[in-house]
Order: sequence, then C-alpha cells, then structure tokens
Amino acid sequence: MGGAESGVGAAVLAKVKGFDVFLSDKGQIKQEYADTLRKWDIPFEEGQHTEELILSADEVVKSPGIPGTVPMVQKVREKGIRVVSEIEFASRYDAAKKICITGSNGKTTTTSLIYHVLKNAGLNVGLGGNIGQSYAYQVATEHFDYYVLEISSFQLDDIYDFRPDIAIITNITPDHLDRYDHKMENYVAAKFKITQNLTSEDCFIFDSDDSITVGHLSKIVLRCKMLPFSQKKEVEQGAFLKDDKIVLRYDKEETDIFLQELALGGRHNVYNSMAAALAAKATGISNQVIRNSLATFQPIEHRLEPVLSIKDVLYINDSKATNVDSAWYALECQKKPVVWIVGGTDKGNDYSVLNDLVKEKVKGIVCLGVDNAKIHAAFGGIVSRMEDATSAKEAVRKAAAMADAGDVVLLSPCCASFDLFKNYEDRGEQFKAAVRSL
Ligand code: ADP
Repeated sequence: MGGAESGVGAAVLAKVKGFDVFLSDKGQIKQEYADTLRKWDIPFEEGQHTEELILSADEVVKSPGIPGTVPMVQKVREKGIRVVSEIEFASRYDAAKKICITGSNGKTTTTSLIYHVLKNAGLNVGLGGNIGQSYAYQVATEHFDYYVLEISSFQLDDIYDFRPDIAIITNITPDHLDRYDHKMENYVAAKFKITQNLTSEDCFIFDSDDSITVGHLSKIVLRCKMLPFSQKKEVEQGAFLKDDKIVLRYDKEETDIFLQELALGGRHNVYNSMAAALAAKATGISNQVIRNSLATFQPIEHRLEPVLSIKDVLYINDSKATNVDSAWYALECQKKPVVWIVGGTDKGNDYSVLNDLVKEKVKGIVCLGVDNAKIHAAFGGIVSRMEDATSAKEAVRKAAAMADAGDVVLLSPCCASFDLFKNYEDRGEQFKAAVRSL
C-alpha cells in the first residue's frame, strides 16, 4: 500500500524475490513511479483500494506516509494479515551492516556526515531511507557492504525483526504529535523502536544531554554497547566536549577533534558531528579519516545554507527548520544582528523558549505565512520592527529593507511550509531565487 518512493521500492524488491505482488494507492501515483512499476511489470492501481485484492494478501507492506488509522489498514489488520514497513521487508534480504539514524532533528545532517566518512574510508556503502532512493529499491538492485539509513518514526511503526548494527537517536523534541494521539510518550516509544532488537554486538548512540532520551532509557533495558554524546559532561565511553575540542572515547582509546576543524558551524552540528564520529569509530574507521571527513563535509541545501552576501548582508536559507528546536539552534549560532523570516503552518508551537535568543539577536522580524497572529503575539512585545509577507519575494524585499551592512537575514521558519509553498524545498528555492534577484 502506497505508490511513492518506499512503496515502489518494496514492490520492486518483492518482484525480484519472486512474490506475486500488487501495489495499491488511494491517491494519484507520480509518473516516474508508474513508469518504474511498468518497467518491472508490476500490476498496480491508483485512486482506489480494491478490497478483495488487498484482503487476499499474505502480507501487506505499508508505506510510512499512510497512517495506521486509515480504514483499509484497519481491515487488513482485523483480518489477521501482517502489516510491515518497507525497512522491515527489505532487511530480510540484506546482510549488509546497517547504521540507522532517527530523531526529531539532525537526521539528514548526521546521516549524510556518516555516509561521507564511510565513503572517505573507502567502504562500499549505500545511502538511503528517507534520503534519496528507498532502502528496499537498493536492496533489490545494488550490492553494498554497509548502509547508512535515515529513518523516520513512521518507518519504525511496523517493524518486528529489523535490527541495525548501529542505532542513533539524535534527539527527541515534540514534532508530528498529531500522528501519535498527541501523546509525547507514544512518539518517544516510536523513536525507541529503533533499539528494540539490538544485541550485545550492536551499538546505541544517543544524546545524553537530552532529558527525554535519558528519561526513556531509565525505563528500558538495552544489552548493546552504549555510546552517549554530551556537550555538558564527561562520559566514560562516547563523546564529550572539553574546552574547544570534541573528545572521543572508544574502547579505552581517546582522541580529540578541534571544534574549529569542523566544516559545519553551530552547536547543533557539534552534536551531529559527535554522533557521526562515534558511528565511524564503532565501524572501525581511523581517527585520521574521521577528522578529515568532518573537516571537508559540504553544508546540505536548506540547512543553514549560506546563499549570498549582498551589500554586506548575508542571506541564510534554513527552510528545513520546521520546528521550534531547529530554529533555536539556528538563532543560537548567529554572531551578527539578525533579520528573521519566520512563519508558515504552525504545528502547535510554543515560541516562548525562543524569547531570550530573540531579545539578544533579532532586530526585525518578517512573518512569512497566511496566518501570522501567533508570531505577532509571541514576539510583538520583544521586537520593535515586524512586517508581514505572503511570498518569498515580498519577505526578502522587506527583510532587505530592514537589514544594515553587517547583518544577517535568516530564513528559519519554525513552521511547516504548506500554507504558501509545496514543501520546505520549494520554500527554500523561492527564497534563494528572491535573494539572487535582489
Ligand atoms: P531532519 O532530517 O531530522 O529533519 P536535518 O539535518 O535536515 O534534520 O535538519 C533539520 C533542521 O534542524 C535544520 O534547520 C538544521 O539546521 C536543524 N538541526 C540540525 N541538527 C540539529 C540538532 N542536532 N538539533 C537541533 N536542530 C538541528
């Protein structure tokens, strides 16, 4: 069920493994995916779910985008048909070592960092999951010794035996609570499913400064090797901050990396770099390769991406900051006065945690959204200059008018993009185009 990246990947793998496979999507299937299904001679339907066909299945692979509450999925479960996620299905046919990353923020950055380190170490490694091609499609068509997989909590919903060799939870902050009955404990438990099959041979890498992660860990028993990372306290095994260095402690050996050497700036990226370095250590990669790789990594699009400097004002695209926590880190690492472009589809945000940073760093706000009332209410008393905009072009023009030489214009919206844009990429692209046309 589901005819996009992961569903089509799972269907191709099922076909390759000789199953009698049928794909069903209640919405429209994109041309490129329909073409792939035809190429692999896989029957499919779109715009409907044919009940008798689906209920005659031995097993259903459900795409992560389909909530478990939709009636067809419930009927499948009521009939006793097993529902599995694409990563569960694919891992049955894959003997590669898997490094799997989940969390609320920093998944893509940490996943890409680890992939970069493993590639530099000369390993035969695939990158997938939520990034690029689905894991299942790659298992069907490639042969890798290692996979670095970004995994959302939705993909973990229907796993049973899926077992990473190295599991990482970057951090846990409220997000997507609508899919978890608005209960934080359900969301936390969903993320922790990544650890459920870890054995004593495996590693778990986690942020020990994150009280939600640590709180949940105190309630469960894990038999694997524990590798915490922290910017606040020393750890026996794992990574921590000492003066201006990251210290890595692994298997009684210690090594350090100067913060200045890291290619990615900002405190959040110190966490991401620590997690990546630990994963690399646990994979047996040399300190030299780890250090060089963390120093040569290129920033990823839409994540604190410097766009252009115009009249000595630097424009930064952080369109991927779709929640309060990610915008907190974006503001925190700014050293110059900020004109902040914020807003969009609010996900029940509590903006008060940003108050101190906004007071300290933000000289003006441009609200970019259909309904900006909550942002005005949150910051109207703190920031004297506030304007509204309903397009990226208007937002950039108004921000440029507020900014003086030496300032930064930062798009870090705290919100989803769907009120005015197709998605966060579209918002970032339109922002960059508007900056370039200034
Ligand atoms: P994800 O894949 O989990 O959405 P990304 O790596 O794409 O994470 O980053 C999303 C946003 O969160 C960006 O704005 C980025 O600057 C910010 N961010 C990245 N890493 C972290 C982190 N460890 N903690 C908080 N925010 C982060």
